[in-house]
Amino acid sequence: MKSQARVVVIGGGIAGCSTLYHLTQEGWSDVVLVERDELTSGTTWHSAAQVTNFGMSQVMIGLKSHSIKLYKELAADIDYPVGYNYGDGGIRLANTQAHMDGYAHFTSLAKGMGVEFEVLDAQECARRHPLISTENLMGGLWDPTDGHIDPAQLCQALARRARAAGAEVYRFTSVTDLTQHADDSWTVHTDKGDIRAEIVVNACGYRVNEVGAMMGVEHPVASMEHQYFITEDMPGVVEAGHRIPLLRCPISDYYSRQEKNGLLVGFYEQDCKTWGMDGIDPKFSNDLCPDDLDRVMDVLEGAIARMPALAEVGIKQVVNGPITYTIDGTPLVGPIPGKRNAFCIIGLRAGLGEGGGHGWLLAQQIVHGEACYDTWALDPRRFTGHATQELTSLYAIQDYQNEFRFHLPHEHRSAGRPAKTTPLTPILEQAGAHFTVVNGWERSDYFKPTSEFVEDYGYRFTQVHEVVATEVAQVQNHVGLAEVNGFNRIEITGSGARDWLDYMICSRVPRKIGKVGLGYLLNEYGNVKAEATIANLPDGRIWYGSAAAAEFHDMDWLRQYLPKDGSVELRSLTNDHTILVLAGPKSRAVLSACARGDWSAPGFPWLSVREARIGHAPAIVMSVSFSGELAYEIHVPNASLFAAYSALMQAGAAHDIGHFGARAVDSMRMEKGYLHWKSDLITEFDPYETGLDRFVCQDKDFLGKSGLVARGGKKRRQLRMLEIDATYASPQASDSLYAGGELVGSVTSAEWGHRTDKNIAYAFLQPDIIEGLTVDIIGKPYTAKVLNGPVYDPDNSRVKT
Ligand SMILES: Cc1cc2nc3c(=O)[nH]c(=O)nc-3n(C[C@H](O)[C@H](O)[C@H](O)COP(=O)(O)OP(=O)(O)OC[C@H]3O[C@@H](n4cnc5c(N)ncnc54)[C@H](O)[C@@H]3O)c2cc1C
Repeated sequence: MKSQARVVVIGGGIAGCSTLYHLTQEGWSDVVLVERDELTSGTTWHSAAQVTNFGMSQVMIGLKSHSIKLYKELAADIDYPVGYNYGDGGIRLANTQAHMDGYAHFTSLAKGMGVEFEVLDAQECARRHPLISTENLMGGLWDPTDGHIDPAQLCQALARRARAAGAEVYRFTSVTDLTQHADDSWTVHTDKGDIRAEIVVNACGYRVNEVGAMMGVEHPVASMEHQYFITEDMPGVVEAGHRIPLLRCPISDYYSRQEKNGLLVGFYEQDCKTWGMDGIDPKFSNDLCPDDLDRVMDVLEGAIARMPALAEVGIKQVVNGPITYTIDGTPLVGPIPGKRNAFCIIGLRAGLGEGGGHGWLLAQQIVHGEACYDTWALDPRRFTGHATQELTSLYAIQDYQNEFRFHLPHEHRSAGRPAKTTPLTPILEQAGAHFTVVNGWERSDYFKPTSEFVEDYGYRFTQVHEVVATEVAQVQNHVGLAEVNGFNRIEITGSGARDWLDYMICSRVPRKIGKVGLGYLLNEYGNVKAEATIANLPDGRIWYGSAAAAEFHDMDWLRQYLPKDGSVELRSLTNDHTILVLAGPKSRAVLSACARGDWSAPGFPWLSVREARIGHAPAIVMSVSFSGELAYEIHVPNASLFAAYSALMQAGAAHDIGHFGARAVDSMRMEKGYLHWKSDLITEFDPYETGLDRFVCQDKDFLGKSGLVARGGKKRRQLRMLEIDATYASPQASDSLYAGGELVGSVTSAEWGHRTDKNIAYAFLQPDIIEGLTVDIIGKPYTAKVLNGPVYDPDNSRVKT
């Protein structure tokens, strides 16, 4: 066994084998994989191993396309052909209009990644799948590539190719501990000796938290027991004359695929069970949980109702094994939060279908720092301090119970809530707040007009459309108050703070104390990494503020570039403060009525910051606006939040103050051309492509400048603002745009602008395309007109006066 390697991958399931193989593909051969038993002895060996191209984001579609391409190549390898039933085709069923609309959207989204799905009616579903009845069925989504693969052969093939490229695989070798050194390298302790590694990768499946604990990390991953059975031969399968397509059912939550001349049917039962929460027997390897078909009877009934022939056939084999889940059901693939030189590829719940692609994206991140796609949807830093295993297990149960019932737009289910609250949460709830979840925080989405109000989620405008219109009018004509909790806030101090931060952003840190500005952080390739509000405060303090979800991401990024001499210090204030946003033409009057000082336009102009008291509550007030109305962001320590809120509401009573929520903000920011991190601001494009030219200071040095300059101004795409000719729905993120029948781009975000009565979207488009555009909305094309800048108060007169 080697005593030194560039990368040690821990775990020899699909996740580890794919990572090892792809590291060699990226050119690193000094890489090893350590597996406590035989390869695939965790979950992988007993997987149903279905491989679909279906995904609910473009990155998931892209990585699955990579898996399929790779698996086809491995199946065609004459030296070691992998058993792969490619192209049986698969149907995802639907019995509600909202799910049919969703399928139309996912079809459009997939087109943007070069993948073709088809929306079918019920009769066509039955024509393609001869065993199903059409009762209570509206239709389905057809994925022509759907199939399944031999999981053990797949992993062996990947390991074989990796070995041929110089990698080494140590089987029957357990990692027992991990030690990190001052230079960020690791010693990987195993029962066969130590390996010094530059980088470690946790690919340990359901044992993820045993290895996580070795580096002091709790990963938000929990396991569920999951069962399928395999039937005896079925006449309907034999007589079909073609392979039976795969089936996934959101009505009863089961799947099926052909297995020899019978079916394999898997279940996501309501009466489900977590697994391994109290520790895992070290001897559990190549092992299964006891069969328990009684538990799945509810779902089995649904499967029989859809495929009556199932009632006539015997069961040959039952498999019950652990399967991992994360808080949002999507794996964690990327850097481990708070650690250096440590990565993970964990929480895979469809790891055979996805594993080829996850290993590909992870290897790119390890070798190049970024992957070809913005991988935020997979980033382990998207959950923060609240993400315990206990919370994860609650989400895991809920996701398992709704396996094929995807979330509709704006829908947040109830499990694990509330995770993060402020002292105002119950007060806002009493005021009618309907909450959404932002990085675990309960954030007011809108305020219900009556206590009985319930939203019918869907892809078309719902009753909330009018509620949001009312909140927007409140802000536009009077004054509104919104709570923005969880805003990521880092205090930067030290003698080198200003110069260092100025290097980290391509724009400038405000020079004068008392001023605020926007900062854009680029990666080494000159693409957009992060966005921050930067406030220059007295006493040498700089406040760096960014999206709530960016808490771990931004801190890791900043820490990575901290000077070694200790001249800059970072302190997170995220969980200690909350923002109260006061917005609208009467906001100055309200603020003046409850806070001492000169709040006039000349006394406290746009983009200013100052310490103040709201009533008696300490606060830092910034005159910045994400709504396009005169507005103040009031940052208050949580202990004083209620006091500040009460003072503002009292002062506001004379000015008809009302609450507003995140959806009203989204409507207003669209009209102003303001962008959202990780919707519109992504690592796939540079600031010029993103329309941020005015924030790039070419006359100074900054991180990412050489990468940006090396690109020579050549544009891959251009972010454009569009007006859409549809009045019943907005496009969804990733819906496709066409010009002359050609695919020319994808939507990044969209919302109805209530002040201008315009349906507005942002999209990355081929740079030279500005006319003849259409965008898909729920399967139908609508005209999209390119707009030249903000459609509401383009001169910013409202925020300045
Ligand atoms: C019943 C069932 C059906 C499924 N069906 C499908 C399907 O149809 N399609 C699909 O895509 N997915 C399916 N899945 C999920 C899929 O099987 C998993 O997502 C995938 O196998 C996970 O692979 P992994 O490499 O992450 O984990 P594992 O396969 O569990 O691999 C982890 C490896 O790490 C090793 N390890 C752990 N600790 C250590 C240590 N300390 N030192 C060294 N090695 C260690 C383990 O021995 C193990 O081999 C199914 C799962 C189940 C349970």
